[in-house]
Amino acid sequence: MTRDLISSARKIVIKIGSNTLAKSDGSVNMAFMEGLAEQCTALMKAGKQFVLVSSGAQVAGLATLDRWARKKDIHYRQALCAIGQVELMDNWRNAFAKSGTHIGQLLLTGEDFKDDQRTLNIRNTLFTLVDEGVVPIINENDSVSYEEIKIGDNDNLSALTAILWSADLLILLSDIDGVYDKNPKEHPDAQLIEVVPDLHILKSTISIGSANSFGTGGMQTKLEAADKATAYGIPMLLTNGGRPRFLEALADGSQNGTVFLAKD
Ligand code: ADP
Repeated sequence: MTRDLISSARKIVIKIGSNTLAKSDGSVNMAFMEGLAEQCTALMKAGKQFVLVSSGAQVAGLATLDRWARKKDIHYRQALCAIGQVELMDNWRNAFAKSGTHIGQLLLTGEDFKDDQRTLNIRNTLFTLVDEGVVPIINENDSVSYEEIKIGDNDNLSALTAILWSADLLILLSDIDGVYDKNPKEHPDAQLIEVVPDLHILKSTISIGSANSFGTGGMQTKLEAADKATAYGIPMLLTNGGRPRFLEALADGSQNGTVFLAKD
């Protein structure tokens, strides 16, 4: 299933969750970033195109300025994202540079997706970067965003991005293998659901537990992202980003996940 999905998709959006980017000690997982950069570059040479949606600005900020860890005030958190975003992109730039690939950054808020002129410009920028072999890396502009205009989580942001770029496939990377009938962190007997033909049926049959240490949206926002993407004919794959060479493993069918089938 995953092999067919990857082989038939040319334009792929990959969302990287904070749990995938951060190591358990709170530092940024450079080995993961370099591995992803290498695999994306190899697949780009084979004709695939990628747009990344990367969380992790807070994690990267805290790794730099741990004395702010306990400051919960909104101004500090937004300031921390301003610092962390630079660190995050510096890490991505170094990771991709090892494979000889350039990256570009787009920071967006919910308002950008509501305005026709802005969406057209974002779309054109994405197409230009990708056509030139550059990997765009998107994040929410957390330093300027506020409750009324923010998307709030990168699962939904990645679905909006996939729709805007007319992607063929959306991949969400997390620290679990996919959607289970109950939270696998709390229930060792939880069963992985490999294919979701109907999201409404899935929602009524599974139980959703809380998100992880660095995660924001948890399973709820992943299902919202699936709802958005599949309604626009884009299948979504939720899979584990923690396994070595996971992109290659997905492409050769040796790694699975949960596939949300696109609606006709
Ligand atoms: P990320 O930062 O990767 O987006 P989140 O922490 O936001 O990750 O969401 C993933 C977490 O959702 C998993 O680590 C898991 O503990 C939790 N979760 C809750 N319910 C479920 C479920 N039914 N199936 C899978 N994971 C679940």
